[in-house]
This record gives sequence, C-alpha cells and structure tokens, in this order.
Amino acid sequence: MQPRKLIMWDKICMWQNRVFSTTIARSNEDGVNFLPKMPQFNHTPSPYNGPSASDLIQRRNQYLPTFVNTYYNHPLNLVEGKMQYVYDENGRRYLDAFGGIATVSCGHCHPDVVEAIVNQTRLLQHTTVLYLNHNVVDFGEALAAKMPGELKVVFFTNSGTEANELALMMARLYTGCHDIISIRNGYHGNATSTMGVTAQFYHKFNVVQTGVHHVLNPDPYRGVFGLDGAKYANDVQDIINHGTCGHVAGFVAEAIQGVGGVIELAPGYLPAVYSIIKKAGGVFIADEVQSGFGRTGSHFWGFEAHGIVPDIVTLAKGIGNGAPIGAVVTTPEIAKVLKYAYYFSTFGGNPVCAAAGLAVLNVIEKDKLQQNAYVVGSYLKDRLNSLMEKHEIIGDVRGRGMLLGVELVKDRKLKTPVKDENMQILEQMKDMGVLVGKGGFYGNVLRITPPLCFNKEDADFLVDVMDYTMSKM
Ligand code: PMP
Repeated sequence: MQPRKLIMWDKICMWQNRVFSTTIARSNEDGVNFLPKMPQFNHTPSPYNGPSASDLIQRRNQYLPTFVNTYYNHPLNLVEGKMQYVYDENGRRYLDAFGGIATVSCGHCHPDVVEAIVNQTRLLQHTTVLYLNHNVVDFGEALAAKMPGELKVVFFTNSGTEANELALMMARLYTGCHDIISIRNGYHGNATSTMGVTAQFYHKFNVVQTGVHHVLNPDPYRGVFGLDGAKYANDVQDIINHGTCGHVAGFVAEAIQGVGGVIELAPGYLPAVYSIIKKAGGVFIADEVQSGFGRTGSHFWGFEAHGIVPDIVTLAKGIGNGAPIGAVVTTPEIAKVLKYAYYFSTFGGNPVCAAAGLAVLNVIEKDKLQQNAYVVGSYLKDRLNSLMEKHEIIGDVRGRGMLLGVELVKDRKLKTPVKDENMQILEQMKDMGVLVGKGGFYGNVLRITPPLCFNKEDADFLVDVMDYTMSKM
C-alpha cells in the first residue's frame, strides 16, 4: 500500500516542471529556452491511499489476462479525473487528449453528470424494462428529438458492440436477407456479428463470421482512388453483383473510422453507397459510436456531414460520458421486427445510466460542447497541420472537430508507416503530461479524441509537446 499522500497543486506544478526541465528542456531555433507549460487548472486532487501501480501490475498479472495491453512502459495508475485532466497515484496531472477512447464527452466527472448519477443511484439503481421509470423514457425522448426523419424508436444497450449486434440483427430480420456490407478497416465490436463486419485481422478471432462482404476503404490518404468517393462506391455495387443474390440486408459504416486511424470517408462516397444499398433492398446503418454527440463539431451526428439519413443509428461511448450505455435508434417500421420474439436486456435502459445519458445531452447543450469541438478542434487541426510543415514524420493530419488523427510515416512519398516511433512519441508525450491514443491498421496514427471541453490553451500545450517530442527524434 502507498503511504497517505497529499500533494498540493503548486507542489505538483513544481514537480512537473522539475521533471520536464531535467528530461526535456531544450532550445528553439533562436537558442531561447522554451518549455511547453501545462495550462493552469484549479483543482487539487484528493489524497490517494490505494495500491500503487507496481502492486496493481503484480496482482493484475496474477488474476487478469496479461495479454490485454496497457499503454506505456510503466502503465499509468489513474486515480482521479476532472474535466480534461486526469491524475495518477502521485497526484501528477495529465492532459487527457484521448478521453478514455473518445468516451469522455463532457469532461471527467462533470458535476452535472455526477450529480445525475449519484441522485438516481440514491433513489433507485435498477429496475429492468419490466417496470416504468421516467429516466429511461426521458432519455429515449431526448435522444429521438436529436435524430432526423423517422428515427424515433430507441433501444438501450450496454455497449457499442451490443448496439451494433442488435442493429445488424434488425437489418437481417427486416429485409429477410443475410448479407451485410461493411468497409475494410472499420471497427464495430467484438461479438459474433460485429466481429464479422469489423475488418482488421487483429480484431478478429478464428470463429465463423458469415454473410459479410468487406468493400474497398474510401481512404483519401491511402486508398486507391484518393478523394474520389464515387469510384470507391462502385466496389459496393460490384460486391452486390458478384458476391450476393442481388439483395442485401444492409451496409454499416462509421462516418469517420476511429480505431482504423481516424479516416474520413472520401467525399461523395456515402451518398453514392446509400442509393446502391437502397436499390439492393438493404438498410443503412450509421455507427456513431465515436463520431456522435457533437464530437465532429460541424454536426451533432457524423452522418449529417454526408447528407444522408440512415435507417438505423448505433450509439455508445460519448453517450454516457463513461457510464456503460449504448443505444440503437431506428424507425417504427424497422423496430417492429423485434416484436416477433421476446427482446430483452437486463441493463439496457438502466435508470442510472439513462440519467447519466440525459445529463450528457443537457451538458452538451448548456456548455456548448459541439460548438467548442468545432472551434477548438479546427484550431487544433490547423496547428497540427502547421506541425506537419516542420516534421517530415507527419504524413497526414485528418479528422474533424475533436476526432483527429496524425499519421506517422518514415517516408512521405512512399507513406511507409513508422514502426516504433509512434510508441516513443506516445511515451514521451505522457512524460511531458499529455495522453494521446494510437490506432490505424499499422498502429502508426496518433489519435486525439479529448473530452469536448478541451480549450485552446490545451490544444497549444498538446501541439507544443508533440513538437518537442518530434524534434527529439
Ligand atoms: N463501433 C465503433 C465505431 C467503435 O469505435 C467501438 C469501440 N471502439 C465499437 C463500435 C464497440 O463499442 P464497445 O467497445 O462499447 O463495445
């Protein structure tokens, strides 16, 4: 056990600056000492009395699967969070630019979300769908109000995987077809059907995954047709012509591939695919698990940027700011397919998670988080683009709002992915107090998906730290 510690804010800053100045102090071109300074933040972490990282690692290795990855040479033991910051066991503050993998939408422990969770937990934690509870109805109504067209029926689930499993089953039941088309490099979950539509080998286990066809990825950076969305869409028609009976159950896609390395789909692709899928009798499923809830800044839902209205939308991650909840939203007509057997989920529509979800929607509105994602996200992207002019290792900067990616390459022309440099950058950025993620098929994309309360000072600090680490390579 760790001894009881209380590290006050100014001491933390002193400590951080001491570490920075001994390990990474360097000069800019004019020879002036310049050290990225973490923005001020008015929060004192509580004393932590729990087990240390080394103790946790030891026991984790004994009782939990050791092959489940943790980031960093010495995994971080995070014990507290406040808005865009998290704190480790020693009270050290980190700027969280990964947001629990695009999940912390409002900010860590946002007071309104915490209050909603605590209040509801005190009153009634669990009921199941067998009884009425206003939280579930309130949240369902509020979510439906955020959706366009006929998307007015909400099913609650526990995760993104479960939401996508349900959506795929509904598509199959509704159309009477089995074939689903998904995009190579996409990620949709880790259960049977969702693993089927996921299209990266390292997320697939060797089990039967039937009735799925993976089409060309309309990846503007590495894709064979560059930015020509319509050309990639031809592959969807081709697969329908040659790989199916001519009819399909549906098509599923992320508006921006998250796990796949923050890949925006080439312009014009989704509208072209939409009409192809409709002609083949299929439904269009938008996986908004990462791109929903204002994260892309320009729109509340990622699909809106493509000018289409899906038949089914799946939600998770940012929906609960960390509370385990997901949802499927669809039309009354499609929803009806689930009435022919007994559809049931014990926790789907749990009053506490629904209260959290409703609070999230209110906070996004009240704190103008979509607007902030747009303004600060655009600023951050501009700064990252400028960094690209300075560092050859940056092959591409992409994404929207606060769903951004920085692809690292050895050679810009050949687009050869870096191998170890990404981990070095991740590690060094962490040492300097910034947490980012990684992803992409080659694992060479730095993923930036912070809580949507991230501000311009945070963006500057992140880019300055990235600049430092890259300058050292
Ligand atoms: N869809 C997308 C786009 C995702 O990024 C993820 C998770 N990374 C999922 C579905 C699965 O969500 P969960 O991990 O909550 O099951």
